[in-house]
Amino acid sequence: MSAASYQICTLPGDGIGPEIMEQAKRVLAALGQAFDVEFICEDALIGGAAIDATGSALPEETLERAKAADAVLLASVGGPKWDNPAPGAVRPEQGLLAIRKALELYINLRPVRIFAPLAQASTLKPEVLEGVDILIVRELTGGIYFGAHERETAVEGAGTGGTQGQRARDIMEYSEYEIERVVRWACDAAARRRGRLCSVDKANVLETSRLWREMATAIAADFEQVELSHMYVDNAAMQLVYNPAQFDVLVTENSFGDILSDEASMLTGSLGMLASASLGEGTALYEPSHGSAPDIAGQGIANPLAQILSVELMLRYSFGMDEAADALSDAIERVLADGWRTADIADAQTDSQHILGTAAITDKLLEALASN
Ligand code: NAD
Repeated sequence: MSAASYQICTLPGDGIGPEIMEQAKRVLAALGQAFDVEFICEDALIGGAAIDATGSALPEETLERAKAADAVLLASVGGPKWDNPAPGAVRPEQGLLAIRKALELYINLRPVRIFAPLAQASTLKPEVLEGVDILIVRELTGGIYFGAHERETAVEGAGTGGTQGQRARDIMEYSEYEIERVVRWACDAAARRRGRLCSVDKANVLETSRLWREMATAIAADFEQVELSHMYVDNAAMQLVYNPAQFDVLVTENSFGDILSDEASMLTGSLGMLASASLGEGTALYEPSHGSAPDIAGQGIANPLAQILSVELMLRYSFGMDEAADALSDAIERVLADGWRTADIADAQTDSQHILGTAAITDKLLEALASN
């Protein structure tokens, strides 16, 4: 009998999803043995596969299982088969939006870490990337994306035909409650990491940012180990490419986080190495940042590492298994340092690398874990 047991709702989805999920399960089984924990993975349908089987991108049964589980591990959804559907038809991506909403996931985490052996894959100089290990904490369910979006026709004025043409507005709103739960989580995360929290806003212009900054200052005062700084979002966008190693945890509102996390993810230069987590009221959800890669699906060459890095996040943030998460991330680092690559992260100039398929690179990873 294991010391602990966790129920994981696994959602393989479409394209390369089932291939990379299979590798994630092999890694979970190995870690379960090594750390005396039982991981019970149960597959459910989402995306195109779910549309084909049930007509819905998120069947009720999947949602029920996700709600009852200790964590949800998602691969990816979508593909040409379901692209350009008839008007009103269901799209695979609707399953993603629906599950995030139903689980009330209001925090998105995007770790940006440079694996030293892959530094050459980035467009930035290796010396700029040295030591980069950032956790971006983004508010996910508030702000301008969720405020009213309105349009007025033909506003009177001095434009053509005596009007200024149409006018549009998008409302940005935040309550103290919405800010507090995200910033408090970020302070806690910073306290468990290197203790530095940078809160990003536009407080020189926006009232929501001024409230955000006041709240961040007040909340961080409760965390002795956390050193808080504030940065305007335009400066943060520059600093992320100028001196990214200065950041530890970065916390920000929804739209700023959307843009900054995409910018930061490009520091790594490889889509196959990026994972994300969404946390909130319901079961937390972990997924790679890439899509279903239909162009390489079924060929056994997909990079499973972003999916496996999603497992690392799950161990850390849902199960509190930091030691297992560290062992996994060290093993990935060693496999890469030994020159093993999947095709997407291989550098054509270097012949010291050995290109492996989806299962074979996982074999190397399992060997590295076993020799830990
Ligand atoms: P994509 O991320 O699937 O692929 C972009 C490129 O990166 C492709 O050349 C692909 O082969 C490569 N790639 C991606 N992941 C890889 C991996 N693990 N290993 C090796 N190579 C990898 O983006 P896309 O082509 O724009 O979208 C394809 C489908 O995925 C679309 O239907 C899209 O809607 C969907 N999509 C889903 C998600 C999700 O499930 N969260 C996210 C983005 C796109």
